[in-house]
Amino acid sequence: MKIRLLGTGTSQGVPILGCDCKVCLSSDSKDKRLRTSALVSENNHHLVIDCGPDFRQQMLAAQVHTLDSILLTHEHNDHIIGLDDIRPYNFRSGKPMDIYGKEEVLNELSMRFPYVFNTLNKYPGAPEVKKNIITKNVPFQWGEKYILPIEVMHGSLPVLAFRFGSLAYVTDVNYISPASMRQLEDLDYLILGVLQPHSHYSHFNVEEGLQVIETLKPKQAILIHCNHKIGLSTEFNKLLPENVRVGYDGQIIEANW
Ligand SMILES: [Zn+2]
Ligand SMILES: [Zn+2]
Ligand SMILES: [Zn+2]
Repeated sequence: MKIRLLGTGTSQGVPILGCDCKVCLSSDSKDKRLRTSALVSENNHHLVIDCGPDFRQQMLAAQVHTLDSILLTHEHNDHIIGLDDIRPYNFRSGKPMDIYGKEEVLNELSMRFPYVFNTLNKYPGAPEVKKNIITKNVPFQWGEKYILPIEVMHGSLPVLAFRFGSLAYVTDVNYISPASMRQLEDLDYLILGVLQPHSHYSHFNVEEGLQVIETLKPKQAILIHCNHKIGLSTEFNKLLPENVRVGYDGQIIEANW
């Protein structure tokens, strides 16, 4: 499988509107972070994990001509609000987009996008979706492969992380139960959300994220969902252990699935 990090930034993105800190003003492309999302490609099939406000721009940058599925980690705005922009894929395929999420997440999506889910008097050309309910700890089939949804906590909200064979994608998170930690053992790649150096009520800070990495010992860990407080990416990387690097938009990782 190939995974491309489409965005590695927190909900406001980096640069933050109106901020003139050195990170937000940096000309290094690795300091520019769209909202967190990733493209998983296997055998010419493509899925995106989350569909935030930068979805359209991210699909353009990655030159994604066909998209089979969207996998949702949770219902926060920075992970769902790009849904309207799936329409070109609907028109091209002539099919509804497969959306995978927990029942609560799909219900919330219906409330946030009533015109998509409304079956009466539906506006012609509105996005077409097919809901696929997934449940923690129950692997589901995608193409010829299986994806394992793993529950982690994001403040008081249980959200999903996903394991694709030797790679796991864990975005918004500040606590992982011992049972979920066991499902994240023996990884080649752990992609992990770490917000900033200081504490936060619903995200790991740098120290907490590094503790999880130290416990799980993946061969390589890549940090995502970062804000401008992590500093310049070149300087931040120097502070990290050998097997940990901060991710960047456009980064491509190949892993066994
Ligand atoms: Zn988020
Ligand atoms: Zn800034
Ligand atoms: Zn969130």
